[in-house]
Amino acid sequence: MALIVQKYGGTSMGSIERIEHVAAKVAATREQGHRVVVVVSAMSGETDRLLKLAKSVHPRGNPREMDQIAATGEQVSIGLLALALEKRGVQARSYTGAQVAIRTDNAYSKARIKDIKAERLLADCQAGIVPVVAGFQGVDDSGNVTTLGRGGSDTTGVALAAALKADECQIYTDVDGVYTTDPRVEPQARRLDRITFEEMLEMASLGSKVLQIRSVEFAGKYKVPLRVLSTFVDGPGTLITLEESTAGESMEDARISGIAFNRDEAQLTVLGVPDRPGIAAAILGPIGEANIEVDMIVQNVAPDATTDFTFTVHRNDFDRAHDITKTVAAELHAKDVRSASDIAKVSLVGVGMRSHAGIASRMFKALAGDGINIQMISTSEIKISVVIQDKYLELAVRTLHKAFNLESAAC
Ligand code: ADP
Ligand code: ASP
Ligand code: MG
Repeated sequence: MALIVQKYGGTSMGSIERIEHVAAKVAATREQGHRVVVVVSAMSGETDRLLKLAKSVHPRGNPREMDQIAATGEQVSIGLLALALEKRGVQARSYTGAQVAIRTDNAYSKARIKDIKAERLLADCQAGIVPVVAGFQGVDDSGNVTTLGRGGSDTTGVALAAALKADECQIYTDVDGVYTTDPRVEPQARRLDRITFEEMLEMASLGSKVLQIRSVEFAGKYKVPLRVLSTFVDGPGTLITLEESTAGESMEDARISGIAFNRDEAQLTVLGVPDRPGIAAAILGPIGEANIEVDMIVQNVAPDATTDFTFTVHRNDFDRAHDITKTVAAELHAKDVRSASDIAKVSLVGVGMRSHAGIASRMFKALAGDGINIQMISTSEIKISVVIQDKYLELAVRTLHKAFNLESAAC
């Protein structure tokens, strides 16, 4: 008998019929003799609707109230699923994050989990009751409701699995596993039987929203066995593992695991800044102080005494970053500030990249073959990212998928 945490996402909970289907799956897992703790998201589209509603009242919002409002979507879901389970004769009890207690810091809309009290849930399991826990939400030390960032129910699921020392955390969603790239963009994408935490972390941080990045961090840190599965189609899903898989693949084959992409960035360029020490710090210092994360950075070699300095930020932070950059640029007597939000980032990810030269040039050649201009490049041991114009994003993903033969098992 295993203890399993099952997390069901928004699409899986998207209608009463689907909630009944989730209840049937939970009941079936129990009939196999397992103990189950369930984590659910709000019904699909509900969090967006709630945030829009809040913004219609107050466009800039108030972080505490935005979280208070956004968290209600999950509260509806837990109640509905608990009722659906009861109807099937399965004893169930719903819990909000505060009722569990999932304690977080007070960074509204991106709170981090500090600790979880597992006793009540374990007592329920012991008594044959299925706890149904609201994902995405927690409570800070002062009793304020907090949320964990978009996609945060994944993190609730993994954090609960860690706290309960569960045998497995199963993330049920609308695709039957982690694919070589988003199957909605590349229908030839292939499901991976396994992927390492390291690669999944890169994929998530580079834009693959199939798992929230923090859930992967948590799973890696606490060694939670994590699997992504479909709510609608039976199958083995994808296991996130500590080790690289070598089964059936030679070292030569396993170079690239997947392609991630991100449409959420915007680019700022300061033109004609003096080429002297301290300029990068002068520009990026105030951005960091404003709590804005910078992703890619490029500074050109100066042909004369001035140079151009380009960096990217999340689109949500763009207006603030733009204002700050304009102020700094004026102080530095730079020529101008240019901005672009019609950009996208495409990344190749794979631990096998470490031991193989030539992957970058193959990537650049493939993009050039389609006339796609690369604006920025950044690399690490296991990824290569490029910034391109967003209108070429889907073409770039498909081109790279083909160029690296990701559709066939041996790539
Ligand atoms: P849920 O509501 O269940 O949390 P999400 O929409 O957050 O579901 O995540 C699932 C979606 O992630 C899929 O529908 C798919 O479009 C997208 N996705 C992006 N990259 C990948 C990938 N590499 N593999 C599988 N799905 C991906
Ligand atoms: N409902 C939240 C969201 O839409 C959390 C989640 O689905 O994981 O982002
Ligand atoms: Mg999700």
